[in-house]
Amino acid sequence: MSTPENAPRVAVTEDEFRQALTEVRENIAAAAKRADRDPSDIRLLPVSKTVPVERLRAAYAAGVTQFGENKVQEAEAKAQAMAELDPHWAIIGPLQSNKTRAVAQFAHEFQALDRLRIARRLESQLQEFGRTLDVYVQVNVSGEESKSGLEPREVEAFLEQLLEFEALKVKGLMTMAAHTDDEEVIRDNFAELRTLRDDLRARRPELIGEGGLSMGMTNDYEIAIEEGATVVRVGTAIFGERDYSS
Ligand SMILES: *Cc1c(COP(=O)(O)O)cnc(C)c1O
Repeated sequence: MSTPENAPRVAVTEDEFRQALTEVRENIAAAAKRADRDPSDIRLLPVSKTVPVERLRAAYAAGVTQFGENKVQEAEAKAQAMAELDPHWAIIGPLQSNKTRAVAQFAHEFQALDRLRIARRLESQLQEFGRTLDVYVQVNVSGEESKSGLEPREVEAFLEQLLEFEALKVKGLMTMAAHTDDEEVIRDNFAELRTLRDDLRARRPELIGEGGLSMGMTNDYEIAIEEGATVVRVGTAIFGERDYSS
């Protein structure tokens, strides 16, 4: 029996990772071209949550030097196991107060900042460790209650409060589109984040850093790029279907 070409696959070997990365990069380049953008302005952040360290090592050998993780404990264990490779660790999920210390210690980036209390803790712990952390402020543009993030109208005041935190380096805004197959709804969500960024950039450029837009996952990163994404967070299309059973 032959395996259908579109069967879910899981990348294990370095070669399989090379193939998956080539495909995703080609898609990124094509989407950038459609939007008349330079593909080198778009950063691919591979999302390795639930994937065991051995496969992260194969991905690293294939050229992946940054990993997105949504659970701090899991990310910290992986960072320790891969310490000699010293990749870039991005935490992309919401943070409990008791996890900020670990993040301040090992992570390079936090993409789901939406609470002042968390910002304050991170700042003082980063100061303690003599480190800085790149941050994206998460915005809930879909209005879905299950999603974290600030409401768009809250973003400016929040960014203002972040100005006093020297160890937190604001890089831009992050969002997840609505959970739907409706491409127009997804596109509208991404466009809304871009509009919010453009408006802040025009009126309050000091608040928004380089004005990055982290948006787009496996199912919608091409739309996100057409709408201005500067970071796409792609898991399944690189690592394959996730196994949550263990
Ligand atoms: C899991 C996750 C992703 C990647 O999801 P895929 O659909 O596998 O690409 C991106 N962003 C966040 C915040 C995630 O939790």
